[in-house]
Amino acid sequence: MSASETSLRVVVRARPMNARENKEGARRCVDFFETTGQRPFTKKLLFPFSIAYLQVIFGLQTSHLNAFSGFNATILAYGQTGSGKTYTMGTEDNDGTDEMRRGIIPRLVHALFQRIMATEAPEAFTVTVSMFEVYGDNVYDLLRADKVKLNVHGDEKNCTIVNLTAVPVIDLKGALKQLATGCHYRTKAETAMNAMSSRSHAVFTVFVEKTATSDSDSAFSAKLQLVDLAGSERLKKTEAEGNRMREGININAGLLILSQVIAALATKQKHIPYRNSVITRVLQDSLGGNSYTVFLACISPADSNSQETLNTLRYADRAK
Ligand code: ADP
Ligand code: MG
Repeated sequence: MSASETSLRVVVRARPMNARENKEGARRCVDFFETTGQRPFTKKLLFPFSIAYLQVIFGLQTSHLNAFSGFNATILAYGQTGSGKTYTMGTEDNDGTDEMRRGIIPRLVHALFQRIMATEAPEAFTVTVSMFEVYGDNVYDLLRADKVKLNVHGDEKNCTIVNLTAVPVIDLKGALKQLATGCHYRTKAETAMNAMSSRSHAVFTVFVEKTATSDSDSAFSAKLQLVDLAGSERLKKTEAEGNRMREGININAGLLILSQVIAALATKQKHIPYRNSVITRVLQDSLGGNSYTVFLACISPADSNSQETLNTLRYADRAK
């Protein structure tokens, strides 16, 4: 993949109807038309998106996720709470042994190690992982039991999270162990702090470094950012009070800036408003530039969620 080919892809994934939707007699209002690539929604609203979910997974595991030539890749899961973001990314408290439930993170890390092992010099590679959460304007380390709050330093070009825990891993199992730790600390806080996870962005980072093994061989580094975004739902009036409202406003601001950043990248604008929110600041070097970005819109198929689904599809449509 050359720099000029780096791109943004938008993918839509509808989860199956859940028990509650079925019980409430909800009807399916989303359809996928694989052959034309068009996705009609409710009464003949059409949203054309380029590729299907499975193609992305396959594409990422093969040619596109080119961590081997020093490219960065970012996958963002967007959608209302309950739409399948966490399931899709694999950012749940799950040891990854259930293949059917395996999300994108375990699949990518598996593919990554397979490729490293297939090279002539696997020992030239170092893989480290981190996991953090962006909640309001704060960044928390998810690989530490005390969930310490971290500072973000940076300028227009570069942005770093100071003292973020980075753990070297040598195989899929090691990486999944760290993922499980991060998910565990995220979930633990959820019960303590009012369903915090639906209002926070969780980011799992895989950093790949390779040293040169000979004169003809070059060193490089690449970063994969796997992002389980905060729920995109509008807060109901009764909920939008006090702290909750401030959270809601913060989160919506982050998602709003993210859409502006993605739209600015998609239309090749000169100024990209990365610095206007914490989540876009910390992802700055992973969105645009030499990064390959996949925007995954997760939706419920039920008509009872049609308004939120429509909002999600419109958001995703703008990002194309
Ligand atoms: P979100 O992270 O967007 O709030 P979750 O990923 O937690 O949503 O999904 C909500 C529920 O739906 C979970 O119980 C999850 O197991 C289930 N689910 C989501 N996507 C799928 C899918 N593609 N197939 C089967 N079950 C799914
Ligand atoms: Mg979730």
